Amino acid sequence: PPQSEEHMAADDRQKAVFDAAALVKDLRAAFSTGKTRSYQWRVKQLQSIIKLADDHETEIIDALRQDLSKPEFESYISEISLLKASCTNTIKELHNWMKPDKVKTSVTVFPASAEIVPEPLGVILVISAWNYPFLLSLQPIVGAIAAGNAAVLKPSELAPATSSLLLKLVERYMDNSAIKVVEGAVEETTALLEQKWDKIMYTGNGRVGRIIMAAAAKHLTPVLLELGGKCPVIVDSQINLKVATRRIIVGKWGCNNGQACIAPDYIITTKEYAPTLIDALKAELEKCYGKDPLESKDLSRIVNSNHFSRLSKLLDEDKVSSMVVHGGLKDKSQLKISPTILLDVPEDSLIMSEEIFGPLLPIITVEKVEDSFDIINSRSKPLAAYLFTNNKKLKENFVKSVSAGGLLINDVALHLAVDTLPFGGVGESGTGAYHGKHSFDAFSHRKGVLYRSFFGDAPARYPPYSQGKLNL
Ligand code: NAD
Repeated sequence: PPQSEEHMAADDRQKAVFDAAALVKDLRAAFSTGKTRSYQWRVKQLQSIIKLADDHETEIIDALRQDLSKPEFESYISEISLLKASCTNTIKELHNWMKPDKVKTSVTVFPASAEIVPEPLGVILVISAWNYPFLLSLQPIVGAIAAGNAAVLKPSELAPATSSLLLKLVERYMDNSAIKVVEGAVEETTALLEQKWDKIMYTGNGRVGRIIMAAAAKHLTPVLLELGGKCPVIVDSQINLKVATRRIIVGKWGCNNGQACIAPDYIITTKEYAPTLIDALKAELEKCYGKDPLESKDLSRIVNSNHFSRLSKLLDEDKVSSMVVHGGLKDKSQLKISPTILLDVPEDSLIMSEEIFGPLLPIITVEKVEDSFDIINSRSKPLAAYLFTNNKKLKENFVKSVSAGGLLINDVALHLAVDTLPFGGVGESGTGAYHGKHSFDAFSHRKGVLYRSFFGDAPARYPPYSQGKLNL
């Protein structure tokens, strides 16, 4: 019988690309053998990730240089070493994480005991983004393995050198019956999304996040969405200005030249303090990146010409271009944009309407620093929000009143490196969290188990019912 157009399109797509159904079937078969559940298998795979990173450090750094001109120091600190630390910590803690949690029971079930047993979900799909293409691909895989799952990784096609290196290294170092890499773009990802997974973890923008969630809904598959947003930095005047400035700079331009989900997107400070802050930022920027930052080897380039045009559009909007107080230099041939600061851009400008994800940093001003909270809370909930202050009351109010995926006081981006904290968004910045034990939990089902014995059987529970039994 003739198939519907929708089915034909789906079939053709899968055949044209690869057999996504067969891939998932193979992984399910591997999962069903039970091997991924064993502690030994999990530890061996995690050790293989460390070995993969150690043996191929130079190649990884080279791939990141090709994809983003990422400085070697940054590649090591924020991709390779974070991944290795995540593996080491997981190996150290895994035995404990795998143990059931004993929990109390209620008198209703007396005598009984109860526990929560973590079990793997099954077969996981991980779709990752281009900006930290090594870390964001393998760190979710660490969680999937730790929890005892099989998994497919689909790295971003916008970082092609890292994507093909990941394919090669995962094939060489890991158990390929249970862990696989599929390279590709929309077509391949669409074919993967048509399959039934036990969890999908997606890192990227909210537009595609909606596509992922809709595809997952067809199979009632749970999702972990690591999305983005506009991360604000509130700067009070009661600060160590030099330290604050350097931390803002390294968290913005030292994080992939602003192409990071938790990089500061905009600053809020008082009208009175803005000139002092701007002067300090300018002076420190020159110390970090020299007089001609377009030539600095310590700044990543913009990932591709589409993103270069997108950022240029934000910068060149009529009502914004005159607000540049520092930088604003571009070199299209090298896809480079210099660290750029803008002051008092209008609320309705493009730059204040969408996530910047690049080296532009607008500063908006308020009368009183406390007014910042309302500005943040009137927008979509960000992935991270930052505050620089020595004022205890202000810190308390910030924690109490600002909703964001995570908060960090007196620094920027570093909360990402603390494995005991859940890393994830809220509202439009994402759903679910990972890192450390949170990754283990994200890829496990916490199965409640109640144990009873044949003692203490209460006759009142059984029919025939009577008023007398209710009064017991
Ligand atoms: P991207 O372009 O690499 O896309 C991410 C993934 O989505 C890729 O693997 C890509 O192949 C896939 N994809 C793209 N279009 C698709 C479609 N139509 N259907 C199915 N899959 C599709 O990355 P991006 O979205 O440009 O990444 C930047 C965004 O990611 C920013 O918003 C940033 O804040 C966010 N981000 C979040 C985190 C986090 O941990 N929360 C980390 C990094 C980036």
